[in-house]
Amino acid sequence: MVSQGRLIVITGPSGVGKGTLVRQLLERHRQLHLSVSVTTRPPRPGEIDGKHYYFVDRDRFEEMVQNGELLEWAEFAGNYYGTPLDPVKKRIEAGESVLLEIELIGARQIRERFPQAQLIFIHPPSMLELERRLRSRAQDSDEAIAKRLKRAAEEINAAKEFDLEVVNDNLDQAIKQLENVLFAVV
Ligand code: ADP
Ligand code: 5GP
Repeated sequence: MVSQGRLIVITGPSGVGKGTLVRQLLERHRQLHLSVSVTTRPPRPGEIDGKHYYFVDRDRFEEMVQNGELLEWAEFAGNYYGTPLDPVKKRIEAGESVLLEIELIGARQIRERFPQAQLIFIHPPSMLELERRLRSRAQDSDEAIAKRLKRAAEEINAAKEFDLEVVNDNLDQAIKQLENVLFAVV
């Protein structure tokens, strides 16, 4: 019998660098698999359907919720986001490790449904630096950035609920910290 794989959740304010950290982890550790979420947010320039997200309309998203097709879901800055259940379940059952890059409400649902999941919170070095990163990404409107900053403060207040907190100041150091926890010899 194959032992169950691990479910690892990465949460933190929009713009903190979750995507950047996750990309590097995936490149360096081929045994990790990223779950592709479903969203009603329109694609940003360069985002590919099925790779970055599955882009759907609100009706389809609500249907997925009704049908129990999502492991967790939440509304964030005016759009729905959710994790398709089936692919995650298959990988975990096959003994593979799955990374979820999701916001706070979804992370709490994972804690309830999958208590053995490892929940990691990524902090910015400061709110000023977070705003700088959001603006430097140059992919969100001023209104979207304002919504994300407001939500950031709420998320940071809940960071203590997580198993591990990492500050993404120096990127290499943050990755090392994550690797130490994910691949510690037990
Ligand atoms: P998230 O996925 O959390 O929304 P991104 O990975 O898109 O965040 O990163 C937001 C911006 O911050 C990007 O322009 C990225 O290059 C930059 N960034 C990420 N990590 C760091 C870091 N440690 N130092 C400086 N800039 C960073
Ligand atoms: P963005 O629009 O910047 O891609 O994502 C906005 C927020 O939604 C980020 O905090 C991201 O982690 C979160 N998110 C992405 N996919 C999911 C998901 O499937 N479920 C939940 N709950 N949040 C998600």
